[in-house]
Amino acid sequence: MSDVTERTDEAAAVFGDVDVVRKIIHVDMDAFYASVEQRDDPDLRGKPVAVGGSAARGVVAAASYEARQYGVHSAMASVTAKRRCPDLIFVKPRFEVYRAVSAQIRTVFAEHTDLIEPLSLDEAYLDVTENKQGIAIATTLAQTIRDRIKAVTGLNASAGISYNKFLAKMASDLNKPNGQAVITPAMGPRFVAELPVKKFHGVGPATAAKMARLGIATGADLREKSLGFLQANFGKSGGWYYRIARGIDHRAVEPSRERKSVGAEDTFSDDIFDIAPATAEIKALAEKVWRHCEAKDLTGRTVTLKVKYADFRQITRARTLPAALRNAAELEQWANALLATVFPFEKGVRLLGVTVSSLEQRSGDAPSDTQLVLWREP
Ligand SMILES: [Mg+2]
Repeated sequence: MSDVTERTDEAAAVFGDVDVVRKIIHVDMDAFYASVEQRDDPDLRGKPVAVGGSAARGVVAAASYEARQYGVHSAMASVTAKRRCPDLIFVKPRFEVYRAVSAQIRTVFAEHTDLIEPLSLDEAYLDVTENKQGIAIATTLAQTIRDRIKAVTGLNASAGISYNKFLAKMASDLNKPNGQAVITPAMGPRFVAELPVKKFHGVGPATAAKMARLGIATGADLREKSLGFLQANFGKSGGWYYRIARGIDHRAVEPSRERKSVGAEDTFSDDIFDIAPATAEIKALAEKVWRHCEAKDLTGRTVTLKVKYADFRQITRARTLPAALRNAAELEQWANALLATVFPFEKGVRLLGVTVSSLEQRSGDAPSDTQLVLWREP
């Protein structure tokens, strides 16, 4: 690559094709499922509550703040959660109630803007650069929205206010629960520089570990790397890391964004050859993917397994089912069936991925017994 080309690429990567200062608010309900349960059952208030799972099995889908003080968090095995917090109260999720509350929250958003991009039942980006009630100060608007949500639903929301989605999302965590924070254009680069990369939204544990091996611990470390270096090491994501290291994110708030698939993948620290670590990974991936589906109120009919070998060659195996998936156990079962078609592995495996596509809404389905298998008391 010549010098000139490289500079052009870097300029494009930094400046993109947008030159507008946006006002973005990321609204995130506090401990959403658990807070709804505490709202509706006074006996649960002030107590450690886990939604999903049971004392004996399953996975915690959401934990109340009281439970979090014991180190209980979502995605934790229920057995571990119970050990950390012996008084933990397990309640069954009521997705139909969460969906109804979510609809109320969106109605509040729509009083201010039509540019609403929901990320899940309890989280959304709002572009309020132009807003319906002409509130000039985005922090005032965020406070107004949170007050309205409280009045309408009785629940607390936190908010992050910034000039792009990445920073708004990071900001909503800063004063959680029941708080808000702003990251202005003047603050953005410094905020990112000081942030550990493992806290960046979109940088998972595998990427964070790889960055650590490359000597990248903070946003400042990331910023020191050239675009070429990041693309060489992280492929398509390299440009994204290059931009966010500078607090730059040109993604628009997309109201009608339709999700095509939900997937997760993980790189092994050492290449694997045996079936046992592969099936253990499939189980973890299936549970993770299903949690995302659940939170987004989605299911799907196509399961895809991705296998990347030690030499970086990648294969996928997919199967479309006659009926939509009903639970994590089914997803795991189909992913394992696909795994069986490539075992014994022709060489070491460095990465496995599981994706669900041919998505459809779960809303309206009467939950069957099998659908609740993850949550059922033994
Ligand atoms: Mg939340």
